[in-house]
Amino acid sequence: MTSASAAAARPVVGRLAPSPTGLLHLGNAWSFLMAWLDARTRGGTIILRHEDIDPARSRPEWREGIERDLRWLGIDWDEGPGMEGSRSPYLQSERGAVYESALEKLSGLGLVYPCFCTRRELRMLAGAPHGAADGLGDCGAPYPGTCRRLSDAEREERARSGRHAALRLLCPDGEDGRMTFSDRLAGEVSCTLSECGGDFPLRRSDGVWSYQLAVCADDIAMGVTSVVRGEDILFSTPRQLRLYRLLGGTPPEYAHLPLLCDGEGKRHGGLSLQALRERGFTGADVIGSLACAARRAPDDSPLTPAALAEKLRTGGGIPWSRIPRGKITVPERFLPLCS
Ligand code: GLU
Repeated sequence: MTSASAAAARPVVGRLAPSPTGLLHLGNAWSFLMAWLDARTRGGTIILRHEDIDPARSRPEWREGIERDLRWLGIDWDEGPGMEGSRSPYLQSERGAVYESALEKLSGLGLVYPCFCTRRELRMLAGAPHGAADGLGDCGAPYPGTCRRLSDAEREERARSGRHAALRLLCPDGEDGRMTFSDRLAGEVSCTLSECGGDFPLRRSDGVWSYQLAVCADDIAMGVTSVVRGEDILFSTPRQLRLYRLLGGTPPEYAHLPLLCDGEGKRHGGLSLQALRERGFTGADVIGSLACAARRAPDDSPLTPAALAEKLRTGGGIPWSRIPRGKITVPERFLPLCS
């Protein structure tokens, strides 16, 4: 059985994984709606997990705002804050033990090494932001492997000089690190880990866990079978698949959604749901407009997520092959508010 069919054979568990670093925007509403519909149209479970690992950027008031906006949209969850279940806790800031044990496993495989490079050094080495393989989004700055080759003595010397180390995962170079997976929208995606940035951090030098490690360890621990998220994260997926392989988890099915863009094709998901509410729009206005933009409704009449799920269920689920590819234009009625 391939990993995709293994994931498909399990009862569907999806997740909403917001980062509570600001107000929810239209782009988030689009991804969460599709993640929610995917689970709901297949009789699955939905988990709400706040990705608040970075204490400098996350705030409890953003978390509360996200939950309020989701309820306003009509998007609910079966497990999450206020809906305790077997997968708790639901805040990444409270899940350090899960990440610690994943790190231990990776270290036991001899694949983790300390990296003493400062962000500034990495920026200077890396130059301009890197685009890497076509169509995969922005992979961030590629790591040149500086600390991979340090001897034990050099590592000790750097540690003694008071430099704090980040921890990186050793990844195979070139073709040895080719990762191929099937995306429900993009089809077959194939790229090397080097193209995705090379050895990536598991923990920052200030002790903050990396997004890649946290998201993967959590998705495994929570038994997530379906990941629906924006195309801008596509570049992370090969790295996460490497973690799945090393940690021994079954990868989920993936759907990376086109991003919301303005009339000129520039990415635009920044319009906050709060701003729309203040303009008098309802959650059903937003859902109806998004469904129409994604060509899942003939017009932008108000629609609840539950009504949309029902409609899709009777038609056999989300028709992934008919979701527009590349980009989705922000619903017309919201465009004037985008500038
Ligand atoms: N927390 C991430 C974000 O808000 C989403 C991560 C994911 O879906 O894997 O961008």
